[in-house]
Amino acid sequence: MKYQKIIATCFCGDAAAKLKLAEGLAESYGKDLEQNDSIKDGLAKARILVSTLDAQMADMDMGRICSGCAARVDGGCCSTYMGNENNDALLLLMNHLAGVEVSLVCDNGVECSFLGKKGCILLLKPIFCLNYLCKQIRARASAEEIILLEQKSGALLTAQYQLEQLLIGFLQR
Ligand code: SF4
Ligand code: SF4
Repeated sequence: MKYQKIIATCFCGDAAAKLKLAEGLAESYGKDLEQNDSIKDGLAKARILVSTLDAQMADMDMGRICSGCAARVDGGCCSTYMGNENNDALLLLMNHLAGVEVSLVCDNGVECSFLGKKGCILLLKPIFCLNYLCKQIRARASAEEIILLEQKSGALLTAQYQLEQLLIGFLQR
């Protein structure tokens, strides 16, 4: 695939279109991608960084804060817009390669298509989702905790970006 085509297709459309494209790429190239050492290493590194970030979020009690917020009628921040605009087919392909059963689990037209009953189903999340720090979280966290959170989400985002570049390089062959 040409670089322009990858960018023009993987980053366009709604969540359903991006998922369909990711599934097509997985069907065509999944086995080769799973055997690619650089991609395997990148996925392994990303998994470790997801765990490190999860641990930091648990230390900050974010699960409880977000559950309480999301349970309110006007609460939560995983909107349809997020699912459509901030995801892309390469990220969904990455999740597939990481073993996530990626599907559209929410179709209420209000919340993100990837928001399951127990939260986001994606292991590797879009940039905006990883960077988002709402007022409620900021108000409850110390400056040191925010720095740690940003360092850990930044490390994961870097790993995801590197994986994305590996996938683009692979698809260009
Ligand atoms: S990140 Fe903030 S707005 Fe989003 S669910 Fe958690 S507390 Fe609510
Ligand atoms: S965190 Fe997951 S469920 Fe929430 S908006 Fe992002 S992709 Fe969707």
